[in-house]
Amino acid sequence: MTSKSKVLLIGIDGLLLHRAINSGRASTLKALYEDSYCAEMRVDLPTISGPSWTTLLTGTTQKVHNVIDNDYKNHNLAAAPDLLTQARVLKPEIVTYAAAGWPPLIDPSDVGPVIRPRVEDQDSGKHSIFVCDGETHGYEKIDPEVAEDAVATIDRIGPDLSFVYFCGADEAGHLHGTLEGPYFDAIERIDSLVSKMHQSVLKRQQDFEENWLIVITTDHGHRDEGGHGGDSEQERASFVIAHAIGTPQPSWPADIKPEELVRHILSAL
Ligand SMILES: [Zn+2]
Repeated sequence: MTSKSKVLLIGIDGLLLHRAINSGRASTLKALYEDSYCAEMRVDLPTISGPSWTTLLTGTTQKVHNVIDNDYKNHNLAAAPDLLTQARVLKPEIVTYAAAGWPPLIDPSDVGPVIRPRVEDQDSGKHSIFVCDGETHGYEKIDPEVAEDAVATIDRIGPDLSFVYFCGADEAGHLHGTLEGPYFDAIERIDSLVSKMHQSVLKRQQDFEENWLIVITTDHGHRDEGGHGGDSEQERASFVIAHAIGTPQPSWPADIKPEELVRHILSAL
């Protein structure tokens, strides 16, 4: 085993963390939050998924990756390798995994993808991806499929670095706002998926004495009535939870910028 620790990065699109925790509908997120490194984070404008996830997943800003909307037109992803690719360069033996239902993040046939396919690494077993389409089928259906594949992969091979993405809360926020039932129903569903992955990681730690770090973040907040993109504090609100299993909680700086997350994650491997 070449890695000191294994890292599971969970992206929850459009999550208002404190609203989720205070709702009483996110017991797993609450428990992880209360026993972790945790920092508030403020994302750049525009507060939309494409630019924000690209910054979070590549450790570069829009000046470098040039993703300014969700169309990825004129992107410069060639200059902005994703964190799994960066880890592979640093540690050639590393095994990586990504699962997401938003195609620009992961689908080789879509406008990105932010996560490079690395076909040769897939062929040699060093990388695997789970690609599905929540935009077509809805994230209430797709998020559980993402989690199911992630849990199976963690159980089977315990990748050194994983990225797993859920979008049901963002979808519900757009449709129903973020003050009432459906947003919190979606949060509760995602919380249960996070719990399943957490359990899977705990079992690996016990069975194989692996050290794990579960990192959770979001790409932007949401207005009360639903929607984001603007410069209100609620739309710019993000966070980092980093919960260590088998080692002390990380001592990352209290003030963290979205483009710095990759560097901290790589330092934990
Ligand atoms: Zn988003």
